[in-house]
Amino acid sequence: MVAVLKPQSELRPEHEDIQARLLQERETVIARIDAVSQHDIVIDSDGVPAGDFESENALVAMLDSRLSEIDRALGRLADGSYGRCEGCSNTIPPRRLEALPFATLCVQCQSVADKRGKMALLRPARF
Ligand SMILES: [Zn+2]
Repeated sequence: MVAVLKPQSELRPEHEDIQARLLQERETVIARIDAVSQHDIVIDSDGVPAGDFESENALVAMLDSRLSEIDRALGRLADGSYGRCEGCSNTIPPRRLEALPFATLCVQCQSVADKRGKMALLRPARF
């Protein structure tokens, strides 16, 4: 599951920060999955109350999909396709990537995907 990371020197300078942020986010998500599975979370910062089996499952599902988004973004950083929309191949605006470093769709494709509802699980919950 661990993406192949490029040595920092091979990354475009603007991608070094993004890789660092993604790796940090990855650690956070993994730590939270651990915490949830140990029933260690009372009220999550995403507003998901724990202690209830169904919510815990929903929370883990959300964290899992976040984790796979992060891994995908890391893979795309490594293969050079990072910043390109998976839907239309246009460049994802840097400001969007700033807010959502693991975004793989531009705003337009994301809203189409949201309308279809198919991407509901992949959509980041907090932004
Ligand atoms: Zn697009």
